[in-house]
Amino acid sequence: MNNAEVMPASGKTAVSEADKLSVSVLKFGGTSVKNLARIQHVAEVVRDRLKVGAKILVVVSAMGDTTDYLLKLGSQCAKNPDRRELDSLLSTGEQISITLLAMTLKEMGIKSRSFTASQIGILTEKVHSKARIVDINSDNLTRALQENDVLVVAGFQGVTADGDITTLGRGGSDTTACALAAAICADVCDIYTDVDGIYTADPNVIAEARLLKRVSYGEVIEMARLGAQVLHPRAVELARQYKVRLRVRNTFRPDHEGTIIDQGEGENMEIYRSISGVAVDKDQSCVTIMDVPDKPGIAGRIMQALADNNIVIDMIMQAFHSTAGHNNITFTVHSTDLDLTIKTLEGIKGDLDASSVISDCDIAKVSLIGAGLAGQSGIAATIFKAFGSAGINIKMIATSEMKLTCVVSAKDADKASKIMHSSFGEEI
Ligand code: ADP
Ligand code: ASP
Ligand code: MG
Repeated sequence: MNNAEVMPASGKTAVSEADKLSVSVLKFGGTSVKNLARIQHVAEVVRDRLKVGAKILVVVSAMGDTTDYLLKLGSQCAKNPDRRELDSLLSTGEQISITLLAMTLKEMGIKSRSFTASQIGILTEKVHSKARIVDINSDNLTRALQENDVLVVAGFQGVTADGDITTLGRGGSDTTACALAAAICADVCDIYTDVDGIYTADPNVIAEARLLKRVSYGEVIEMARLGAQVLHPRAVELARQYKVRLRVRNTFRPDHEGTIIDQGEGENMEIYRSISGVAVDKDQSCVTIMDVPDKPGIAGRIMQALADNNIVIDMIMQAFHSTAGHNNITFTVHSTDLDLTIKTLEGIKGDLDASSVISDCDIAKVSLIGAGLAGQSGIAATIFKAFGSAGINIKMIATSEMKLTCVVSAKDADKASKIMHSSFGEEI
């Protein structure tokens, strides 16, 4: 499955118009709009960024933990809420913040207007809870930018061709911002959050984490895919594809330059680092389909069934089972997809002649990321020895050109990430 967002050919109209207008895209996350005082602060940051003749497109998330609260409400009505209804419910969080911010900006005398995804025309595929953007209505955007100084657009949501509301996946407001920045060829896309930029690890967990001044799209994509919550991975993929200059900055220290994310060319680039950081993903589960026949075509049928349900899997492992002629196939999946994954596998278990499906949701992925990891067995040895000394059991291991991932018990996740970070403190 191609995970890349498909951006519009029609976006080109908006590009040329917006070019003349000089537009900046600023995205404010949930922590930045947590309450009315913070919305007021965000409005002041926007006002201070507004230069004569220039325009600003603001993308906002839902206030604080609103999305979690809405999810909980949905789950109280149904064990597995219908995904179409759930998307409509979750999208209301962003609708609250756009209207409150637009009202505050208007109160300051700024010509602004709020837009839901359906009002501005952020068209997505019809896949609920993780839809990809397929088109952005450039005419709507151009007109709105000509008529207002500040547009306030709801992040995270989209609309299908037949008018259904979709969402882009948790943390998806970053992707909305990058998609809009690409569509209007914005000067810059600033992602405002609650930390100074991208660090070598989550600064709220590892006090020694260092701020990265400049980092390449590739490094950040790996970090984000492997759980560094600071950016939605699809946002950075989009930014790389459409060459959007991205900055991560602190809403509460708006003068701090933050982290620049770009191609990683030129001077002062930090990609000479062989290791760029450590990431932890606690929202993962591990699933095994036991005793599948050891014959051609079985793995393909399993993966196809999962793909048909839009389930993204990772860390696929196959190992011999003690019973000759049978294998166990294990993989990791995002915890929100665990129930659907089990249901899907239970549905084909009989046809495949597999014995059972087992899962473990008490796990976390802890990863070391860096362009210089390829073929460095010494790095793996250092980590495994350090985990061993600390009594941390490694359940799964995967390596690639840019990452080394260990699955450990959820309870060991923070300890493991600290050990990983301190083992390579000099290199990072
Ligand atoms: P927002 O509400 O602005 O979208 P998020 O909570 O999604 O904010 O992302 C910001 C958080 O990401 C930070 O508070 C931090 O705890 C976490 N984080 C995880 N890894 C990193 C990292 N490598 N660099 C910076 N922040 C990180
Ligand atoms: N509000 C959504 C979430 O909490 C989207 C976002 O914040 O980016 O995941
Ligand atoms: Mg976020």
